[in-house]
Amino acid sequence: PQNHLIDALSQGLRETPEKHFVVNKGAQRSYAALFDGAARMAGRLVALGLAPGDRVAVQVEKSVEALQLYLATVMAGGVFLPLNTAYTADEVAYFLGDATPRILVCDPARKDALAPHAAGARVLTMDANGATDFDWAGQGPLTPVARGPQDLAAILYTSGTTGRSKGAMLSHANLLSNSETLRDYWRFTSDDVLIHALPIFHTHGLFVATNVALLAGAAIHFLPKFDADAIVHAMPGATALMGVPTFYTRLLADPRLTPEHAANMRLFISGSAPLLASTHREWEARTGHRILERYGMTETNMNTSNPYEGERRAGTVGFPLPAVELRVMANGAEVGPDEIGVIEVRGPNVFQGYWQMPEKTAEELRPDGWFITGDQGMVDADGYVTIVGRAKDMIITGGFNVYPKEVESLIDAQPGVKESAVIGVPHPDMGEGVVAVVVAEGELAVDALQAAIGEKLARFKQPRIWHLVDALPRNTMGKVQKKVLRYTYSDAFK
Ligand code: ATP
Ligand code: MG
Repeated sequence: PQNHLIDALSQGLRETPEKHFVVNKGAQRSYAALFDGAARMAGRLVALGLAPGDRVAVQVEKSVEALQLYLATVMAGGVFLPLNTAYTADEVAYFLGDATPRILVCDPARKDALAPHAAGARVLTMDANGATDFDWAGQGPLTPVARGPQDLAAILYTSGTTGRSKGAMLSHANLLSNSETLRDYWRFTSDDVLIHALPIFHTHGLFVATNVALLAGAAIHFLPKFDADAIVHAMPGATALMGVPTFYTRLLADPRLTPEHAANMRLFISGSAPLLASTHREWEARTGHRILERYGMTETNMNTSNPYEGERRAGTVGFPLPAVELRVMANGAEVGPDEIGVIEVRGPNVFQGYWQMPEKTAEELRPDGWFITGDQGMVDADGYVTIVGRAKDMIITGGFNVYPKEVESLIDAQPGVKESAVIGVPHPDMGEGVVAVVVAEGELAVDALQAAIGEKLARFKQPRIWHLVDALPRNTMGKVQKKVLRYTYSDAFK
């Protein structure tokens, strides 16, 4: 019997069992110990009644034991279902009702609040140090349960940026094919030490970072959360960092960041939200490295990446990955170079549909396998893909389309501007009116800014209302919450 994903992820275990997978001083964990613990946890889950196909819902702080719980669930033939630690008990209750897990593992502090919503699930706890109320160390290790490529390994809820989170069903083959592609595309080998500072309830930290490191037989420097000081400290002993754009903007504030300090690093990767071109340039000036930006989503894992060798173009997300087909569609037809439309992708990475949402699945996943991402973008003559924003964020004012990214890029390039978000809100005559929300960097005169933008943009694209704010609302993955901004400024034109 073979377990499609676990067998592949165990490569490092087979080849270098004594090698440290986790290299943090004083907290090292060998491949052998990582997998032995996971196999014992898997044994415990099965003893508690987990059957193949059952969901294990997990809302716990990041720890190596939480990573082992992911491996354990898949070993036991279960479906791993991680939940954002920021979700309140009420929010978690929705996910539990939706996913009907067999087992829920939560923080001990949450147990009483969540137990009434467990919907029949067995409730277990794991704290921030990985200590559990279920004894797995004394359990015999389980031989991985047979699971084929098409069996589900995980249900991951989307970030809920555009609406209610949806559960994306991901098969063993979805996860493995993409992680193998990324390992090769980004040249991960057993010589790598990856700084792992991303949350593990999201595809970026869970599948991209963890699976790629395991598949390469590499090591990780494990951080429970983003900590600029700890990351800078880890760099001389590490080779790679995966981050969201806010990692990079915050790290730039650290004066220790120099080319000498980053000399052992070979790769800085960014994704999950757009990286400002200015951050890309500043990072290169400060470290000598060009950040490699890639584009993906919960439903598909990674779709595109800038090249490892060759030009990493700021403001673009690079080329479709090997095995991923990508097309840009408008009015039912594929468009040509530099034309904007909705991005669709197809390949072994594309998910199996939304959990218990057949209608939503049918709307977004075509029968011939193309997935309608909901992101608008274009492909240039050289093949580089640029994301211009979400279809749901596009503004239609007086019958004209305004792509927020075009306006934001111009605003961001003005002196005194740190960043901006352009949104459409209800307007009595125009349908929607354009509003700019701007974060200043030092002194900023809105009149001058407005005048400068007025010279560069058609009138219908120009923001009519400007707001200066201290910061844009973001979620834990650094995604700007335009939904929140639209709500805040919903009365702007009334
Ligand atoms: P929901 O689908 O619930 O509205 P979400 O789309 O934010 O939430 P995720 O799956 O976490 O949930 O995020 C995927 C989205 O993140 C992509 O569709 C895209 O809009 C955005 N994204 C990811 N990487 C990049 C990138 N490099 N540049 C721009 N946008 C990106
Ligand atoms: Mg989405």
